[in-house]
Amino acid sequence: SAPLLRYKDESDQDKEYVGFATLPNQVHRKTVKKGFTFTIMVAGVSGLGKSTLINTLFLTDLYKDRKVPNAQEQINQTVNIVKHTISIEEKGIKLRLTIIDTPGFGDAVDNTESWKPIEDYIDQQFEQYFRDESGLNRRNIQDNRVHCCLYFISPFGHGLRPLDVACMKALQEKVNIVPVVAKADSLTQAEVYRKKMKIREEIKQYGINIYQFPECDSDEDEDFKNQDQILKDSIPFAVIGSNVQVESEGHKFRGRVYPWGLVEVENPAHSDFLLLRNMLMRTHMQDLKDVTGETHYENYRAQCIQNMTSSNQIEALTSMLLPVLPLFTFFFFF
Ligand code: GDP
Repeated sequence: SAPLLRYKDESDQDKEYVGFATLPNQVHRKTVKKGFTFTIMVAGVSGLGKSTLINTLFLTDLYKDRKVPNAQEQINQTVNIVKHTISIEEKGIKLRLTIIDTPGFGDAVDNTESWKPIEDYIDQQFEQYFRDESGLNRRNIQDNRVHCCLYFISPFGHGLRPLDVACMKALQEKVNIVPVVAKADSLTQAEVYRKKMKIREEIKQYGINIYQFPECDSDEDEDFKNQDQILKDSIPFAVIGSNVQVESEGHKFRGRVYPWGLVEVENPAHSDFLLLRNMLMRTHMQDLKDVTGETHYENYRAQCIQNMTSSNQIEALTSMLLPVLPLFTFFFFF
């Protein structure tokens, strides 16, 4: 057969290939150059440790200038949306991470519809993306869509509260909800287990759609499948946060010091913190982004287009009827 066109430095074993096997490398290089973005929202009543957990997750102090309002200020408090952006780099890979905080949620005396500002914020990001996509500069769209919402559930109640149910139901079609049980160090192991079962039952009972982990491919190895199952069985993740570095027996870690002992945030026997961080950062970040783009944003986009076409139809109908209207009025009077 005719010899393939070869460059001088091509090794002998490459001569059978045309070269498209390098496509993953090309894609890799291009995306790495562009950098990655990821947006997480935290929601749930205040005081559950949202800011502490975010600081623990990303080993930063994002909340230095924060001022917590007093009870009087909270009576009529409305929900604010606060955006923090940090750029992190790991092994040459750049990630622009945005945290959307929702202080004030559930703080007022009357919390009816207090999730509305959160819902509106998510919609506004979709709207902006939709506008950018139909605009001139499609190449450099900044993706500010919310890819994941960590919903904090109190460890002190008996499962979900009405506000939790209403808020999650309002957001379920717009964002990937990942429920977490906050301050898990305040519960015993048996209590954590029971609380998780109860919350999972209630999520099912109320028909709340939370983020579903994708099915594991059948050709994955056993170890991967086991890890995947552990992840799925851990929902809602029981988490612990801490702003303090503890030193004990020669090693430093994020932890909480109590008179009766030490809580290590990253110890799998103490909390699901590591599971959550690995899920968000290592294993499921791309899937969270894909589901946002392919399901939540697509729903929004379809709705927009439907609204646009139905308003066009009304316009078309009125423009058709307008010339004959005088005729109708004529018949009406005589
Ligand atoms: P946010 O209002 O939800 O952002 O809550 P903060 O992060 O400000 O935390 C409120 C209080 O709870 C602070 O005193 C924290 O030190 C404490 N806290 C935060 N995380 C935990 C946790 O995992 N366990 C316990 N026991 N306390 C926590």
